[in-house]
Order: sequence, then structure tokens, then C-alpha cells
Amino acid sequence: MNSQKNSVIVLPQTLLADIFRLTEIQKKGLSKLGIMTASDLIHYFPTRYTSTAEIKHIANLIKGEEATIYGRVVSAKTAKGFKSKIPMTEAFIEDSTGRIKAVWFHQAYIAKWLSPDAMAKLSGRIEERSGTLYIANPELVRTNELPLDVNGSLFHAGQETVFYPVYSETKSITSRWLHHHIQKVFVMGVLDHIVDPIPEDILARYHLPTLRTAIVWIHAPQKENDAKAARKRFAFEEVFMIQLARQRESAQTKEHSGFRIEPDQKALAQFTARFPFKPTASQTRALEDIFSDFKKGLPMARLLEGDVGSGKTFVAAVAAYAVATTAPCDNKFGNLQVAYMAPTEILAEQHFKSFIEYFKGMPIEIGLLTGSGAKKFPSKLNPIGPTSVSKAQLLKWVEGGKLPILIGTHALIQKNVQFKNLGLAIVDEQHRFGTLQRSKLAKKDIVLPHFLSMTATPIPRTLALTIYGNLDITLLDEMPAGRLSIKTEMVTKDNRKKMEEHLRSEIKNGRQAYIICPRINEPDRDKELALQAKSVTAEAERIAAHIFPEFEVGILHGKMKPDEKEWTMSEFKKGAIHILVATSVIEVGMNVPNATMIVIEGAERFGLAQLHQLRGRVIRSNHQAYCYILTDSTSETSQKRLKALVSAKNGFELAELDLTLRGAGELSGGTQWGISDLGMEAIKNIKMVEAARTEAARLVAEDSELAEHPLLRAVIKSKHKDTHWE
Ligand code: ADP
Ligand code: MG
Repeated sequence: MNSQKNSVIVLPQTLLADIFRLTEIQKKGLSKLGIMTASDLIHYFPTRYTSTAEIKHIANLIKGEEATIYGRVVSAKTAKGFKSKIPMTEAFIEDSTGRIKAVWFHQAYIAKWLSPDAMAKLSGRIEERSGTLYIANPELVRTNELPLDVNGSLFHAGQETVFYPVYSETKSITSRWLHHHIQKVFVMGVLDHIVDPIPEDILARYHLPTLRTAIVWIHAPQKENDAKAARKRFAFEEVFMIQLARQRESAQTKEHSGFRIEPDQKALAQFTARFPFKPTASQTRALEDIFSDFKKGLPMARLLEGDVGSGKTFVAAVAAYAVATTAPCDNKFGNLQVAYMAPTEILAEQHFKSFIEYFKGMPIEIGLLTGSGAKKFPSKLNPIGPTSVSKAQLLKWVEGGKLPILIGTHALIQKNVQFKNLGLAIVDEQHRFGTLQRSKLAKKDIVLPHFLSMTATPIPRTLALTIYGNLDITLLDEMPAGRLSIKTEMVTKDNRKKMEEHLRSEIKNGRQAYIICPRINEPDRDKELALQAKSVTAEAERIAAHIFPEFEVGILHGKMKPDEKEWTMSEFKKGAIHILVATSVIEVGMNVPNATMIVIEGAERFGLAQLHQLRGRVIRSNHQAYCYILTDSTSETSQKRLKALVSAKNGFELAELDLTLRGAGELSGGTQWGISDLGMEAIKNIKMVEAARTEAARLVAEDSELAEHPLLRAVIKSKHKDTHWE
């Protein structure tokens, strides 16, 4: 079958639909993968490689060896061990040479994954029982990606080892399709027309292959090292481009001036004295950093990084107070304004409540603006609590400069929101907003507002250097005194009962608990959500029926409607629900001080930093908090990672550890930072990150507009334009 149309010159921007005959389903599949042009296609990189040396014929397997086989599922069922009665899965797998039984003890659920005729790759130990070989507890990858030629050539004896690229697939576009069509556009000459955006001297300095070589090597490596070198180049490129964008933002920010703010020390001391606690040394240091920025007359660009509960709101409130009580230099009327943006309505509400508490009785008005409405504090009607107002009215006050502090969700950056004198923009968990621009809040070409980004998401230093390359960083690495530290425990099957009894007695004492069900790694986001929902629902039913029939059990997951979620959360807050079975959605936004226990099922599926954040949900009160870590995984790395969670108390330490303990390619979570899996490989390598940073800084210092590098400028413009709030 010839899917190629008549000979055409293939340029990078040529549409694939113009060179290949594509079915409608294939077109859909390609667009789902983000592939429209020849350039998209050759930039669609393999996720990994397989070599033919890895794969064994079923007929050639011998007892005792560790082997990888590839075959078709003939049948699969759940079963019980003959004597032991252990639940298990039994399946038969077949390739062109033979058939073998695969057995998974304790993992009856695997049967559900193995529909007949599915392709699967199994790696495990070959065992023997009554003269018959079987493969025991193999690692399983369901696949239809490989071998490139299932019908023979791969399995011919005596053939040399070949490396095959394995691409992430979608319905109708298989790994094999991608491989063949990439080869075709190579032959059609696309590589003659691509231009390398990275300056030659930089490539030479770090011994990186040129773009053309790297593209060939990444798709068709002759040997493993070719693929490695190519991946290294693209990883470098990704980080370099981000750094370049950040360095440019940074240079551009410095061209603006910022409001000079020097708060009256006495008034500031009086304000901080209103709080029912003494600031920690970290909080004091953070405020010193901020006030020293405020003095400079340049726009501050600072990241405040502190674990959940480290007291970032206090820092935000004091900075907001200083700004809201300062008159803008250029006019005598009114004061500077503060915008405080949170990623969810719940969080915005929470900040609003905290601010009401902090600013009670002061002549400083505070507004709340979210998708669902507007509120103001104080008002004539209600001097001690919030009053609902119309959005239009609130916006008028903001525009007139009469409302000094406005808290809200991304509703704050909509066009109709105009500040008269925005002096400070505070953003909580900025990365959750997606694309943002500081210029959206501030009118152009006047003084830029100060910018304070806050995050509780612990990330490794290399990642921080990359994505926050334009921000100065302050760490809040200390918890308020007197807080009981959380007791974290790994729970094995044997002491599960004990854990349940402990939950029971704590709940009887009036406490509440979260039970988190695992994220399931599904390439299809919708399906993943559905699966999560299913496991949450099933677990909640099981618990309610068999474990805690005396308690009220609620559920919370991403597939629920907003009002259902809202209702569940408020019931939980009220204490009407004792146990909340949820997905990791509770990671953001839940603040229920009375919930002091969290059980995390399938913990190996979460990143350490994420686990740490989940755990942070239950350290919101003076009651002793408990975190229970459950896992079925016996892998050494999993165990090591989870043990670190028991011993480490600090999120940054865990983030670093996560990075070193997870292999490249296993690092997920890059996407939330706009970094691909390949880019995350660079993040593991401090030298590479530093090199990218140095080179980016050098280029921007020499040529801040990148006038001499139009190609680089174009790449940054198309990719990194709106990724930061600058
Ligand atoms: P974060 O936003 O960093 O997760 P919050 O600002 O919500 O943390 O603070 C968590 C809790 O700790 C709040 O109830 C706050 O009032 C309290 N808190 C903040 N700073 C201190 C401190 N220095 N001493 C005691 N409690 C504090
Ligand atoms: Mg907070």
C-alpha cells in the first residue's frame, strides 16, 4: 500500500496531509498528538528505545532466567492459589514460537487489564512447575508499539541487534506508523531545510550535535550513544530556551521602575503586633527581603517558597499592608493597591477571611472577586464581616483607586478589572494558572507593580533556577514554633488493622480523616479521571460497608460537578462527614483543621513532593496529626522513596531526593511547569542547567533584544511568550 502522494518538496512547514494520504481517523490522531507539519513530525520524539536483544522467543525461554517476551494475550482470568488461596491472575501469552503461562500473585486485578488479543510486553523470571515453564509476577506493559515488524523480521535468528524508537501512540497512529513516516520525510529531504536555532559556538562548547544530526540520531540511532547525545542536545535546548525567555523578561523588567515603598517602621510594628503570634525568623527574613526590594525603586520580582503551613499569608499580609498605606509618588490622591490572586475560589475565600481577621478595625477596605461574585469588607451594613456587592460596583471602586486590596481568582486579570494604582501583585501557586502576564494587571508603560509569587510546591533547585530564572528566591524553611510535627508511618498489610483501629479511636475523639486513592497513570486524561472516580467510589463503598459502618463517609474527585464538590467540602468542614475518600484534588484548597489523619493508598504512584503536600493538609491544628503511607510496591526505589517521607520533614529535601531517586523518563510532573519529559532529563543535571543559564545570560547581556539571533527570538516568542506573569 502506498500512502505517499506524488513527489513534492517537503519543507518543515509542509502539512502532512499534503504529502501523505491520511484517513480522517489518522488526521484526528495526528492532531491529537499535536502533529500537523513535517516539522512537528520530526520533532515528535520517541519516549524510549527497545533493542531486539532484549526480546526473547517464548520457545527459547529457560528456567531461572530473567527474560522479556512480547506477545499476544490468549486468555486471562483471576484464580486462587491451589493451596494458599492467594488471589491471583493467570494468563496465557503467545508469540510466533510458542505459548507460556504468566502468573501474578496477589494481583487479581491485572486480569481485567488483559483482554484477549491485546499485545503485551512481559519482563520477569522464568519459573517451572510440574515440568511446565511460566513467568512469575512479570512487569507488564500493554502495548501495540513493538516489534516494528511483528510478522517476522525482528525474530529472525542471527540478525544484529537493532534499536527501535518507541513513540507514544494514539488510536490510529501507532509507533510503527510514526517510525515509517519519519523515515519517509527524511528521504523527502526535510532535513535540508531545517535551521538550527542554537548558535554553533554554544553547541561546540558543550559537545552537542547539530539539530540535523540530533534529529536523525533521536529517531534512528545506530547505537545507544547516538540516541543519548541527541536527547542531551534537545534537553539542553529546552532548558536553554526557557532560560533565555526568563533572562529576557528579567532584563526587560529592569528597564522599568517600580514604586518606592518605605513603610513607617512604627506603624508596621503595630500592624504585626495585631497577630496572635510572633513571626518566625524565616518570616522576618522574608519581609526584610521584600522591603529591601521595595526601597530600590525597581519592580520586585520575588518568589517566596515555603512548605504548607509555613505562614506565607502572614508575609503577604504585611507586604500588602505596607503597600496599601503608601501613597503613589506621582499623585496625592489615594493609596497604592494590592492584587492577591489564588488558584481556586476556595483559596481566594480563605485568604479573604484571613485578611478580614488581620485588617479588622483598620481603615483599609478589602474586596473579593471570583467567578461567582464579589464581596467587600468592611461595609456600613456589616463592619465586622463580608458583604456581597455587585461586581460592577466593586470594579468601579478598584478603578477609582478606592479599594486598596483586592483578593480573587484569575477573575482579577480579566480585561474589565482596571486598577488605578496597582503597587503589588501577589500570586499564590502561580503555576496553576497557566498563562499569565503581569502586564495584564498593570497598565502598560507606567511603573511596573511589584511582584510576589508564592508557592508551597517544593521543587529541586535546578528546576527553580530554570522556571523561576527571572525571580529572586526567598525560602521560608521554618515552621511556626509549637506546631506538633506530623507522625508519618508506612503501613504494611500486617498492621493495617492497627491503623484502622487508630483511625476509629481518633474519629471517636472528634477528629476527621482523608483517605487518598491513587492517581492512575493513564495516557488518556478523561479515562484517568474516570478510573480515579471509580476507585474512589469503590473504596468509599468498601470502607463504609465493611470497615467503618459507624461513620459517615464522603467522596471527592475530579469528575464531580462543582456544586457537588462544594457540598461535600462544606459537609466535611462541618464535621458531618467523618472520612473523606478523595483523589489528590484535595492537594489544593482544603483547609479543615479538624482533619488530622491522612491515609495515602498506592503511595508509590505519587511524587514525593506531592505526597509531602498531601500530608501538609493535616497539619493545620494543634492536635497530633498522622499520615499513613500504603503501598503494594516492593521495588527497592519505591521503598527508599517512601521511607524518605518518613524521615524528611522538609519539602525541598524531598524534592531533591525525588529527582535523584527517580530514573530519567520516570519523572513525571514536568508538564505542570511546561517542561517535557525530555527537558526534565536536563533538570536532573545541575551542570547542564547551569550551562544553559550561563549561555542564556551571556546572550541577553550582549544583545538583550536578540537582534543577532532572530531564530532564537522567534522560538521564544512562539513558545515562551506568556508563560510567566511578567
Ligand atoms: P501557608 O500559606 O504558608 O501554607 P498559612 O499562611 O496559611 O500557611 O499559615 C498557616 C497557619 O499558621 C495559619 O493559621 C497562620 O495563622 C499560622 N501562622 C502563621 N505564622 C505563624 C507564626 N509565626 N506562629 C504561629 N502561627 C503562625
Ligand atoms: Mg497559603
